[in-house]
Amino acid sequence: MSDKYGSSGDNPAAIVVGGGPAGLTAAIALAAGGIATALVGKRPARPDNRTTALFAGSVTALSTLGVWELCAAQAAPMRVMRIVDDTGRLWRAPEVKFEAGEINLEAFGYNIENRQLVAALEQRARALRNLRMIEDDVLSVAPSDDAVIVMLKSGNRLHAPLVIGADGRRSLCRDAAGIGIAKREYPQVALTLSFKHSRAHRDTSTEFHTPSGPFTLVPLPGSRSSLVWVLDPIHADEIAALDDAALAAEIERASHSILGKIEIEPGRGLFPLGSVTARRFADKRIALVGEAAHVIPPIGAQGLNLGLRDAATIGELAVAAQRERHDIGAADVLSAYDSMRRADVGSRTLAIDLLNRTLLSDFLPVQGMRGLGLYVLDRIGPLRRAVMREGVMPAAAQPRLMRGEAL
Ligand SMILES: Cc1cc2nc3c(=O)[nH]c(=O)nc-3n(C[C@H](O)[C@H](O)[C@H](O)COP(=O)(O)OP(=O)(O)OC[C@H]3O[C@@H](n4cnc5c(N)ncnc54)[C@H](O)[C@@H]3O)c2cc1C
Repeated sequence: MSDKYGSSGDNPAAIVVGGGPAGLTAAIALAAGGIATALVGKRPARPDNRTTALFAGSVTALSTLGVWELCAAQAAPMRVMRIVDDTGRLWRAPEVKFEAGEINLEAFGYNIENRQLVAALEQRARALRNLRMIEDDVLSVAPSDDAVIVMLKSGNRLHAPLVIGADGRRSLCRDAAGIGIAKREYPQVALTLSFKHSRAHRDTSTEFHTPSGPFTLVPLPGSRSSLVWVLDPIHADEIAALDDAALAAEIERASHSILGKIEIEPGRGLFPLGSVTARRFADKRIALVGEAAHVIPPIGAQGLNLGLRDAATIGELAVAAQRERHDIGAADVLSAYDSMRRADVGSRTLAIDLLNRTLLSDFLPVQGMRGLGLYVLDRIGPLRRAVMREGVMPAAAQPRLMRGEAL
C-alpha cells in the first residue's frame, strides 16, 4: 500500500476516518489550510443513488475549496420552494411559496446526485499535495494524552494529534472518544428515487405535506427530478415493490401531475427515519463530523448541509491553531468546536422533529399550529425573508468557508 505516513513513520498532523462527503470536505479544508492530512476510507459497497440539496452557504464553501467548479454542471438550481398542505385535514395551511430573488439570491441552493458530488470531492482531494488518500478500513482508534493511534486493516498504523471521525452513523471514532448518543426512531421510511418527467420543473422544489410525512420533489438538470417520499413502513414496502409503470402512476397521483408523465430511473432506496445526536461533538483529540455527530430525518434537506458546516468549522479551528503553533487537537480547540456546532445542530434537529410530529399528529390543535405557522410565513414578508435567510445561511453558524473566505 502506498501509505507514506504509515510505512515511513512520517505521520500526518490530522487523520480523517471516513471518505463520505463530510469526511472528504473536512480533509480538503484541513489540507488546503496547510495541515498534512491523511484520509482513510473505502468506497461504499453499494452505489448511493440519492441526491443532496445543498444550500447557498454549502455551495459557497465548496466553491472556496475548489470543488464546486468540478461538479456545478451536474447540479440543478432551486430558485423556488413550495410547501403544499396535502394532508386533506380539516385545518389545512395555505400553499407557501418562497422565491430566492426575495432575499437577493439567484438560487436557494443546488441539487446534485451524491455520486457526482463525491466524485468531485475525490478529484479535488487527490489534487492536494498534503492530503494523502488511503483506501483502507480503520480497525481501531485509540486516543492517548498527546496523540490518537489509528490501526488499519492492512496492518499499518498511523498516529496524529487530531482525528476527525467522519465514519458515519455507527461511528467507531465516536465510541473510541467515549461519546454517548441520544437516539430516536420514527415510524416512517423514506423512499428515494430519480425520474424523468414530461413537464418542466422550472427550478422549483415542491414539498407536499401528507399525513405520513413530506413528499418532496427536487429538480435535477434537464427534465429530471429526485423524490424523497416519507411513508409509513408497510405502505413504503408496498410502494417500493411496484413495477416501474405502477410506481410512476403512484408518483404522478401523489404529485397531482405537476410534472406530467413520469419515467422512473433505476436505483430506488429505502431509508428508515431516525435521529442520532452525539452527546458531545469532540473529546480526547477526536472531533466528529457529519453523521458520526448527528443523523436527522431527510426532511428539509438539512443533514449534509450541517455536515459541511461541521467540516468547515473544524477546518477553521485546526488551521488557526496550527498557524499559532498551538496543538491542533488540544482540549480547548475541541471544546470550541463542540460549542460552535451545538446550537446549529440542536435547533435543526428540533425543528425537523417538531415539523414531522405535527404531520403525524391526529390532534387538531397541533395540526392547527402547523397551519397557522405556514399562514404567518405566507403573510408576513419580513418574517418569511428571515426564515429563508436562516434556512440557507444560518446566522449563528457561519464558518469562514461558508462566507467565501479561504482558510
Ligand atoms: C433519503 C435521504 C435524503 C437526504 N437528502 C439530503 C439533502 O437533500 N440535503 C442534505 O443536506 N442532506 C441530505 N441527507 C443527509 C445526507 O445524505 C447525509 O448527511 C450524508 O450522506 C452523510 O455523509 P457523511 O459523510 O457524514 O456519512 P457517510 O456518507 O455515511 O460516510 C461515512 C463513510 O465512512 C466510512 N467508514 C465507516 N466506518 C469506517 C471505518 N471503520 N474505516 C474506514 N471508513 C469507514 C463509510 O464507508 C462511509 O464511506 C439525506 C439523507 C437521506 C437518508
